[in-house]
Amino acid sequence: MTAPLTLLRDVFGFDAFRPGQEEIVEAVTSGENVLAIMPTGGGKSLCFQLPALLRDGVTVVISPLIALMRDQVRGLQEAGVEAGALTSGNTQEETDAVWAALEAGRLKLLYMAPERLASGGTLGMLQRAGVGLIAVDEAHCVSQWGHDFRPDYLRIGDLRRTLGVPLAAFTATADAETQDEIVQKLFDGGDPRRFLRGFDRPNIHLAFAAKDGPRRQILEFAAARRGRSGIVYCGTRAKTEALAQALAEDGHSACFYHGGMEAEDRRAVETRFAREDGLIVVATVAFGMGIDKPDIRWVAHADLPKSIEAYYQEIGRAGRDGAPAETMTLYGPDDIRLRRAQIDEGLAPPERRAADHARLNALLGLAEALGCRRQALLAYFGEQSEPCGNCDLCETPPELFDATTPVRMALSAILRTEEWFGTGHLTDILIGNMTDRIRDRGHDRLPTYGVGKEWDKRQWGAIFRQMMGRDLVRPDPERHGALRMTDAALPILRGEAGITLRRDVLRRAADRRPAVK
Ligand code: ADP
Ligand code: ZN
Repeated sequence: MTAPLTLLRDVFGFDAFRPGQEEIVEAVTSGENVLAIMPTGGGKSLCFQLPALLRDGVTVVISPLIALMRDQVRGLQEAGVEAGALTSGNTQEETDAVWAALEAGRLKLLYMAPERLASGGTLGMLQRAGVGLIAVDEAHCVSQWGHDFRPDYLRIGDLRRTLGVPLAAFTATADAETQDEIVQKLFDGGDPRRFLRGFDRPNIHLAFAAKDGPRRQILEFAAARRGRSGIVYCGTRAKTEALAQALAEDGHSACFYHGGMEAEDRRAVETRFAREDGLIVVATVAFGMGIDKPDIRWVAHADLPKSIEAYYQEIGRAGRDGAPAETMTLYGPDDIRLRRAQIDEGLAPPERRAADHARLNALLGLAEALGCRRQALLAYFGEQSEPCGNCDLCETPPELFDATTPVRMALSAILRTEEWFGTGHLTDILIGNMTDRIRDRGHDRLPTYGVGKEWDKRQWGAIFRQMMGRDLVRPDPERHGALRMTDAALPILRGEAGITLRRDVLRRAADRRPAVK
């Protein structure tokens, strides 16, 4: 059987599960009755779409939202999944095609509006078609007291009884009464497995740092946590080996782990990590599945993860026992360049690439956050929260400044050199350095030449990095990483909007107060 993670990647194009998804997918796939409460935008649909592919027969999806159904069906079809919808918006041909696919046993997902359940033929048809699973989206619509009550949802209980198959109900409405009503009406009061764990892992301390001698930063982080089990995630296999060696030389017990190793050697590391106290594993993302060591005390990223989902999953390996755990994620302009290039050079269709850029932007936004990181992280997954008090920015609120002027200067330097240069040369122009390249190109005659003297090379580096983090500029892999402006920068360039950046990161690391922790 295909592994869920393989399908997640190959069919849905995601590199990691979002919080909660994996457990729900597992339970639904194995045929348990499930009631899952996830915030809007949390990624509910995947929790029945993926099991639908792993289970025999067709999965019937009941949803009240016609536009949403059509949208999901289109997305599934584009991903090569046989899916169809029976809604009032269908043309006769569409409906005929869906019935035909259902009779032929080809359909994996059949979306339908609850009203369909009222029409005579539907039930018989579904009985013949071989339904393997019922998924109910917006399950709170069964609640007579809620404002979204749909009388036809009350027919779902009959459907389940008649077909005798497992049912998975999803909603974003979490209050206890609604849950009870869902259990009564959809599961006949039976006891579905409930998933309503919030996404927050309050015992995990969150921190990011701009790369500034990354090897030294990792060694310092590990040295301050000597004797405690931890994972260091790296972007490349070679780096895992080099860093593991550096840590070992620094007196830690450390080993490396990546997908290029023999299965046997990897298993040996997994076993050692599970048994030994205080081992550090320096690994690529290949290390993760199947580790359920509860007392991992820290996770560090020597390179920026792929997406905000991957970040959450990787840091989430720390502190499963609920005791305090710490994380630190390093990032720098090279990471941003690399991740963007990976997306642009990948084979994914344009819409998917745009979504991948957006997920990367979300992670960069978190890296360059101006306020509580947990609040930003949870907000991305649809959960509202207060500042957490357990992240680097809650502990040391960042110093902000109005960066409209330098950002506008930088944008102007980019445009006047027709988006053909990277941060190094742009910085030389802004500061007014006389390099061979400046002389050869006559860039000392640009009006932006020397206008940014007030900031030094390193400070401009931090400004450009934050601009990349906010997606005002993007490195173009087809131009050797030259920065190009995005539409998001237009209002700033035109003087219609200002921008606030962090000032503290403009200072040299050595000038900064040592962290209190
Ligand atoms: P809701 O919970 O509101 O029904 P959706 O299922 O529509 O949410 O998912 C919200 C968004 O999250 C969609 O754009 C979807 O593509 C995206 N998404 C879902 N699961 C993942 C994942 N594992 N990784 C990245 N993006 C995901
Ligand atoms: Zn916080």
